[in-house]
Amino acid sequence: MAGADSSFDCIVVGSGNAGSCAALAASDAGLERVLIIDKCPAEWAGGNGYFTAGAHRTVHGGLADILPIVHNVDPVQAQHTDVEPYTHEQFIADIMRLGNGRSDPELVRALVNNSRAAVQWLSERVHVPFTLSFNRQAYLVNGRQRFWGGMALSTQDGGKGLIAAHHKALQDAGVQTWFDTPAVELVLEDDAIAGVIVRKAGKLAKLTAPAVILASGGYEASTALRAKYLGEQWVNAKVRGTPYNTGDGIALATAVGAALTGDFAGCHSTCWDANAPSDTGDRTLSNQFTKSGYPLGLMLNAHGRRFVDEGEDFRNYTYAKFGRAILMQPGGYAFQVWDSRVEYADDVVRKIWADTVEQLAGKLEEEGLENRCQFVDTVVSYNDAVRRFQAENASLRWDPAIKDGLSTQSNGFSLEIPKTNWALPIEQGPFLAVKVACGITFTFGGLAIDPDTAGILSETTGKPIKGMYCTGELVGGLFYSNYPGGSGLTAGAVFGRKAGEQAAKLTK
Ligand SMILES: Cc1cc2nc3c(=O)[nH]c(=O)nc-3n(C[C@H](O)[C@H](O)[C@H](O)COP(=O)(O)OP(=O)(O)OC[C@H]3O[C@@H](n4cnc5c(N)ncnc54)[C@H](O)[C@@H]3O)c2cc1C
Repeated sequence: MAGADSSFDCIVVGSGNAGSCAALAASDAGLERVLIIDKCPAEWAGGNGYFTAGAHRTVHGGLADILPIVHNVDPVQAQHTDVEPYTHEQFIADIMRLGNGRSDPELVRALVNNSRAAVQWLSERVHVPFTLSFNRQAYLVNGRQRFWGGMALSTQDGGKGLIAAHHKALQDAGVQTWFDTPAVELVLEDDAIAGVIVRKAGKLAKLTAPAVILASGGYEASTALRAKYLGEQWVNAKVRGTPYNTGDGIALATAVGAALTGDFAGCHSTCWDANAPSDTGDRTLSNQFTKSGYPLGLMLNAHGRRFVDEGEDFRNYTYAKFGRAILMQPGGYAFQVWDSRVEYADDVVRKIWADTVEQLAGKLEEEGLENRCQFVDTVVSYNDAVRRFQAENASLRWDPAIKDGLSTQSNGFSLEIPKTNWALPIEQGPFLAVKVACGITFTFGGLAIDPDTAGILSETTGKPIKGMYCTGELVGGLFYSNYPGGSGLTAGAVFGRKAGEQAAKLTK
């Protein structure tokens, strides 16, 4: 291979959200020959981005600030909708709090400070069809839609809508994408990037470029790397998205001296349908295997015991760590349980119904419940704790749109594992259970980058390696242990734009 087909201004490795943002930014900044390569076949385009709910967390000034970029709110609806502003300080505090203070403060600041501009760019330049996320992030309270948890933006048709918008913008900009083309080696000459060796149609080929942007995701789809970094139990986690994110970027970059950083023992993992496929997401059902209704119910393990505080915080501050909690239970699964007061709309999951808690426990034995009596006892003592709390705090009202303080911990009685908010007795049949497992979303450890330029840092000098940039899941140091929902797509856009712009600056 030689000539026009092998020489580029910038090569982006990975066709997901982060890589797409980087490629478009590079093209918009004046680079003519921008190429995206992806190891997946064309029908898997978009990486994990395709599987998302399209949730984007950003700093914003409240409803009036974000109304101009959303497409699903008419003026009458707007009058009945409450979206509180979400400030820089809140976004920073959320990442730092959930990461137990370990996140790199400069990286976090770069993400947060550029989040609103990135979302505006996605809307105006990429034409991402943003919506207000009524069904996931708001509750109807006293006739008003109240948004909660610091996040309000989603995209029409979720990740499918997001990736379709990227695809069109890239095509219009003349950016090519080669599928079935894995990067297998990075070429460094005189301490600067010079190109990428790829496998194309079964043959190795050298592509040259003065700038390479790595956006090839984490290692969540590699069973071996999950076992190595996260622990042996993680071989049993179910892959929620693309099966092609197998840690290649880490191997490619460290082979040319890149520095690693971040939480290699940590990942984003959620409550996921126990009947979902194990090693890959499903392109049709995508995010619909998510089972995040637990704040309004209970989670019990195979021994019939609770193991987390289901009401510890709003769902989008706990959902990314509860997958791990489920994986650590006997058998690696659990049962989510509600009574008839909670509506559960999802049609994908297999629902198990019963008229009494005892009957429900009996049915769950067929699904792996090993201690039917303990299951019933757990629900009974939970109900008892809730009633005693209510008796002591008669003025408190159940409200899912705020942390309502309705708990299981009263002066007279408290549970070993509390439920801190939204605790209602599980008492009105019919009762509903679903079986959940751990779904792994993406990994937190990755490459060290310069927060201002997204340049990949050298292990030996601590300085950026000339021409090498990184964005998306592959960036390390941002998230530790846990994660505020909707931050991943925004981070990919923020550092993708930086990477693309810097690549153009360098090349020109
Ligand atoms: C089910 C699900 C729901 C989610 N929902 C949300 C949400 O609502 N909001 C949010 O913010 N985040 C969400 N996420 C997380 C989000 O998907 C990621 O943060 C984001 O998409 C990462 O983007 P990326 O471009 O870095 O990686 P990806 O989109 O995964 O793209 C990486 C690409 O690199 C390719 N690749 C890998 N190795 C090579 C190689 N050697 N050569 C060439 N190409 C390679 C892969 O094939 C893949 O296409 C969700 C994830 C999943 C799985």
